[in-house]
Amino acid sequence: MGAHNLIIGGVSVRYFTGGEALDAEEPVQYLDPPEDALLAGNARVRRIVFRPLSKSPLVALYLHWSGGASLTELDTRVAAGTTTEEDFHDAVAGQTLVRRCRGCGTRFSILYAVEFPGFSRDRARRLQEHGHITHCPACGTGWTAYVLEIIRRLDG
Ligand SMILES: [Zn+2]
Repeated sequence: MGAHNLIIGGVSVRYFTGGEALDAEEPVQYLDPPEDALLAGNARVRRIVFRPLSKSPLVALYLHWSGGASLTELDTRVAAGTTTEEDFHDAVAGQTLVRRCRGCGTRFSILYAVEFPGFSRDRARRLQEHGHITHCPACGTGWTAYVLEIIRRLDG
């Protein structure tokens, strides 16, 4: 279905439907191609690219849903131009990061919550209502950061 221009929370973004290659005509910051390839087909994630300031570089962000929303249906609405703010009510924005568990030392590639200007008005509600990964899947140690998704285990 491809990529589509969209406005989320007053912010113009380029939205990529599930499985779509994240191509842009200029370099994109915070884009890690191996992790992006894994996230492209994730049923809880959709990728967007946007420009935080008028002259700043493009930035990649990952919108994450933890409540079982159908993102293939969202893709259809995006393609048809019929989305509303309600479609993004439960999403939290994230970026990729390598995190090492302080309990067992295992390193994970994760998606963690970051700021997105389109969600800034109700960021606290979004984080509170979201289902986060609160413990290390390898050893059970509690994690304090907002981990949205484990993309893959790197070692350990
Ligand atoms: Zn651990």
